[in-house]
Amino acid sequence: MYELPKLSYEYGALEPHIDTRTMEIHHGKHHAGYTSKFNAAIDGTDLADQKLEDILAQVSKHSTAVRNNGGGFFNHSLFWEVMSPNGSGLPDAAGKLGHAITEDFGSFDSFKDQFSAAAGSRFGSGWAWLVVTENGHLAVTSTPNQDNPLMDVADVQGTPILGLDVWEHAYYLNYQNRRPDYVGAFFSVVNWDEVEKRFNQA
Ligand code: MN
Repeated sequence: MYELPKLSYEYGALEPHIDTRTMEIHHGKHHAGYTSKFNAAIDGTDLADQKLEDILAQVSKHSTAVRNNGGGFFNHSLFWEVMSPNGSGLPDAAGKLGHAITEDFGSFDSFKDQFSAAAGSRFGSGWAWLVVTENGHLAVTSTPNQDNPLMDVADVQGTPILGLDVWEHAYYLNYQNRRPDYVGAFFSVVNWDEVEKRFNQA
């Protein structure tokens, strides 16, 4: 059975970029809901014994409930971890990730522009991602709903190392229709140490 992961910081720790009430509802209601519905969808099936990554990699074979709630469980678990009240603002320029961003996007600012455009142009609900593709390069992509780049249905597949939730439930209380402001604020709380760790493991 999957459990709602605990946050390593308080609900209010990401203020003023992400407000306390949004964090309470997002983690305590939305993520909790995906978790319990995912458990219900796999309980008593052979998926209960499979690794989450393996389930997602073959998600086209599974039910809509598995796709939506398994994705929702995974995506939010990653999302909380790639944010921190002590965000450094930039990846370590001397680290492997900093070098890879420069190599694959030209500069950090160019990466940020691409990521922000992906987040801003995702119509309706979904996610923006920085992924490590099969050939080891970085790519920016976005997915609808609770899909993610681990899924066999994704346009761009790879290992997600940074994800941004652009569902309205992630920002509407504080930002209303101003998604670009929320996307800009997100960069103030990105936990680049965690993203670098995921990059090195990918
Ligand atoms: Mn969400």
